[in-house]
Amino acid sequence: MTFQTTIAHPMETSGVGLHTGVQSHVRLIPAPPNTGIVFRRTDLDNFPIEAQGHNVARVSYATSLMKQGVLLSTTEHLLAAVYSLGIDNVFIDIDAIEVPILDGSAEPFVEMLEQAGIRKLRRKRRHLKVVKPLEFTEVDAANPAQSRRIGIYPAEEFRIRCYVDYAHPLVGQQEIEMVVRPETFRHLLSRARTFCFERDVEPLRAMGLIRGGSLENAIVLTDDGVMNGPLRFADEFGRHKALDLIGDLALAGLPLLARVEAYKAGHALHTQLVSRLLADPTLWTITSEEPAEAPVPIHAAAPSLSPVPAADRATGFVETSS
Ligand SMILES: [Zn+2]
Repeated sequence: MTFQTTIAHPMETSGVGLHTGVQSHVRLIPAPPNTGIVFRRTDLDNFPIEAQGHNVARVSYATSLMKQGVLLSTTEHLLAAVYSLGIDNVFIDIDAIEVPILDGSAEPFVEMLEQAGIRKLRRKRRHLKVVKPLEFTEVDAANPAQSRRIGIYPAEEFRIRCYVDYAHPLVGQQEIEMVVRPETFRHLLSRARTFCFERDVEPLRAMGLIRGGSLENAIVLTDDGVMNGPLRFADEFGRHKALDLIGDLALAGLPLLARVEAYKAGHALHTQLVSRLLADPTLWTITSEEPAEAPVPIHAAAPSLSPVPAADRATGFVETSS
């Protein structure tokens, strides 16, 4: 039997929000069983915003939650870390509108959570087990090749497959397939950073976005290369999309027993999947049964990925061309 968890000790960090440019302070605090992941706006009398599908607000370049008009932006990297590390219950106190972007990856959050430690609670963990598939496509009528697709299917463990395709010499087609567990997330995805294209920087600024964006917190792709290399992985872009996907799936509100496939998807499709899934209780059941425990090395479950050699992890450098 597995038990619910929370963190053992409070931990905090601060930094600038990617889109608003607003400085914020985040404090993670242990929470009792059945709390789930709950943000609290400390600048608004601790107003709680549960990390759940029904609180998803507008979604474009980041995922925002909104409850009774109170907004919280760019939740996905922090949620990806909390959810993948198996933390069921935690209060995330924040004194502004946007979660800090830090280095653009989930690694600083993973390090925080590891320092905080995990504490077992005396209550059985519950899973949201998908029993019937749900899939849909967002067709691009003008360019059907650009259609996006997402689906969720029954499985005995939490698995994702994420496919991206960007016309860029350093990106192209990248595909990530893995079982999501604390160690696979930490080693394969957590260090992958946010990225954007140089040609999009001015249009995004004009839309009031990426005001906190810098070469320290996002990879910027030029027409034929990268402005602020080196990359941490040759396929850092695909890995980051997979990280984003997990952060959005956290809004299911419980650990998933399901396989999720995302094809050229993004935050809008990820969060629609969660909302549609939660809206139809014939698609899932809540269970306290165990996920399948595969007695295999962690990387065997991810044939499309190779682990980062220790030497590369130390320098953060991976050759991107050969
Ligand atoms: Zn992201």
